Amino acid sequence: MALEEYKRKRDFSQTPEPPPKLGKGKQRRFVVQKHSATRLHYDFRLEMDGVLKSWAIPKGPSLDPADKRLAMQVEDHPVSYFDFEGIIPSGNYGAGTVMVWDVGTWEPQGDLHEMLRKGDLKFHLDGQKLKGDFALIHMKARRPGSKGTEWLLIKHRDAYDQPGYDIDKYDWSVLTKRSLKQIAGDEGSAEWESSRKASARGVSSKNDWLAESIAKADAKKAKATAKTSRGKTGSESAQPASRRTARTTVPSARAAKSAASAPDDKTGGRTPASSSIKKKSALKKRA
Ligand code: MN
Repeated sequence: MALEEYKRKRDFSQTPEPPPKLGKGKQRRFVVQKHSATRLHYDFRLEMDGVLKSWAIPKGPSLDPADKRLAMQVEDHPVSYFDFEGIIPSGNYGAGTVMVWDVGTWEPQGDLHEMLRKGDLKFHLDGQKLKGDFALIHMKARRPGSKGTEWLLIKHRDAYDQPGYDIDKYDWSVLTKRSLKQIAGDEGSAEWESSRKASARGVSSKNDWLAESIAKADAKKAKATAKTSRGKTGSESAQPASRRTARTTVPSARAAKSAASAPDDKTGGRTPASSSIKKKSALKKRA
């Protein structure tokens, strides 16, 4: 699939996301990005063959072996997406706030391409939050016309499993320690950097959102300066998982359209129960 779909979905004069460039290295890194888009979800990405193979997980990964988390495969992402954190402006594909929730390395447990072909990918993760053995199991869609993009992410029992795992207790960036809310309201985010560069070049009429963002960022900056203290970062704060960020602008028609057709952002409505599974053995406990 390479990166054509990634490129087709984005306008790189409008989004601070990295350009579609194939990687060369044979590293095996992984990243999980917490993404507050049309719906909150977590993007799980494994580096292989010069790209990040990507799955959108509505409920996020879990260390509880009893959880079988729906993971919708989405388009491959460039490896430079690995440390992307910030705001994708409204009107763009996947508009919303992105946090680097976990990073680390991964190791396939078997022949990687054979496991992918069979839809039964077993691997080990060594991240800051996620550790141990996992499996991604491809589900066979029962529904005609289904894209066949549904997988399940399951934690295996090992020294790292955590029954009752609650992902909402881990709302901080492994890069910057910021919560999702802090990233959404922080002038240090990628959108801010991108806006500053763009405003230095001059704002064209095509980039109307930039003027709006800059005005907003300025207002936020003034507000932040007026505020004497901000919340402590990096703690397991009791702050509720935010499904909406500080960004309150109404998405444009284009955004609404892309959200409606984007598998990356419409993952919340489906459940594993709507599909049968290729590997029945994995479903013995509960679907
Ligand atoms: Mn996403």
